[in-house]
Amino acid sequence: MNIQNRIAAEPGFRDSVNIMVDRALKLTDLPPGLAANINTCTATYTIRFGVRLRGEVHTFTGYRAVHSDHMEPVKGGIRYATSVDQEEVEALAALMSFKCALVEAPFGGSKGGLAIDPADWSEDELEKITRRFAHELVKRDLINPSQNVPAPDMGTGEREMAWIADEYRRMNTTDINARACVTGKPPHAGGIAGRVEATGRGVQFAIREFFRHREDLEAAGLSGTIDGKTVIVQGLGNVGYHAALFLSTEDGAKITAVIERDGAILNEDGINICELKQHIDSTGGVIGFAGGKYFEYGNVLLEKRCDILIPAALEGAINLSNADQIKAKLIVEAANGPVTAAADELLRKRGCVIIPDLYANAGGVTVSYFEWVKNLSHIRFGRMQRRQEEARQNELMVAIESMTGAKFSEQFRNNYKNGAGEIDLVRSGLDDTMRISYQNAREIWRSEDACEDLRMACYILAIRRIATSYSALNL
Ligand code: NAD
Repeated sequence: MNIQNRIAAEPGFRDSVNIMVDRALKLTDLPPGLAANINTCTATYTIRFGVRLRGEVHTFTGYRAVHSDHMEPVKGGIRYATSVDQEEVEALAALMSFKCALVEAPFGGSKGGLAIDPADWSEDELEKITRRFAHELVKRDLINPSQNVPAPDMGTGEREMAWIADEYRRMNTTDINARACVTGKPPHAGGIAGRVEATGRGVQFAIREFFRHREDLEAAGLSGTIDGKTVIVQGLGNVGYHAALFLSTEDGAKITAVIERDGAILNEDGINICELKQHIDSTGGVIGFAGGKYFEYGNVLLEKRCDILIPAALEGAINLSNADQIKAKLIVEAANGPVTAAADELLRKRGCVIIPDLYANAGGVTVSYFEWVKNLSHIRFGRMQRRQEEARQNELMVAIESMTGAKFSEQFRNNYKNGAGEIDLVRSGLDDTMRISYQNAREIWRSEDACEDLRMACYILAIRRIATSYSALNL
């Protein structure tokens, strides 16, 4: 088949995920029936509902897919985008099952979405649409603290999660755990510190952990630290913005290009991410940004030479049409499914290392897990122990000073004495999760001959854990 026909015949998102999972299943010794079960989406609910807006009834189509309910609740975001359909939510729900297993978040996998462009509707209209969608899902226990717990995804955020939580509470006035029905809520509505930044922060922690392993760095043709590495980011939304911000301001990476819907910005000296984000927020796009050169066809910059390429927008961004031209040494899949199965094969053969989506963007569900636990325990993390820790640390410093006659500097004293607040504990828990998950996966990558890449290692680890849960259920 020539390349044009191969591009046209490239499998869709769900098939692409299935191909990757099947490849991993072949590397495990699960009985075929169990393997097939693990790679099957349990159920997808489609809902069409009408909302009276602008003087007439508009009909919307939404979905909630449950991929694997080996653990409950099942967990996964709600996406608002015109691309949303059954295939997309099922692919995303599958990724959630494997992602949760990989980072040991005790959930099955789910995902939902509404096929709308949020930009077409005002805030009041979006609230009506969201509440009606939530109402339909709550009625069927497809939103429920013990069965199915959504979170934000593309096109949704804290605002939508607050509306969903409130709709659930109105329909379940005696449920004391109502707040745990959804995560990613704003702080005043039961959210947790650090959830908004969590997925991007997790991307940063994933890259930091990768850079701690010399053998892995060398596989990608990289060396040294993140400092000074060139990075290209596609999508400066929630995930892409936070990842780019933290990597550039805290780790010294140089963001040389940002690709958005309306074009891209290139600046070999490094783009100021805060300024670019402010420009996007105030004008709606990257056009007119003074801090770099504008390219109308932004995707050409995916092919530009860089150390790290971070696709953080949408699935299928790297496919058979451009995989041959990608020059990045390391691809970090901040988005879900940004590299198709066919492109993955080409890139692997060329020695490009990919940190796969089910690991790279797992920071979101990890902190969602913390938020869910916080909601169920009805207390803020750190509330009981923070001041006690401070008092003990202070006592220790006073004792050392009196024994030695020396004095700690004011800066050390202030840094050391602080007890851990919620944000400190969330970041510590996230860092720990990202480090341990990587180390467990790389152990498989490095020790099992049949496992060629990190993606397969992550899938094998997740599949083994899901299979263990199924065995415990005697399936
Ligand atoms: P978002 O809506 O906040 O941001 C998406 C960004 O991508 C926007 O800035 C948008 O303008 C840009 N974009 C859209 N289409 C584009 C295109 N064709 N080319 C370039 N840019 C484009 O969404 P998000 O929450 O940041 O999610 C991004 C990806 O990360 C999705 O794949 C999502 O499933 C995944 N993800 C998100 C979370 C989360 O916590 N939000 C968690 C895990 C995974």
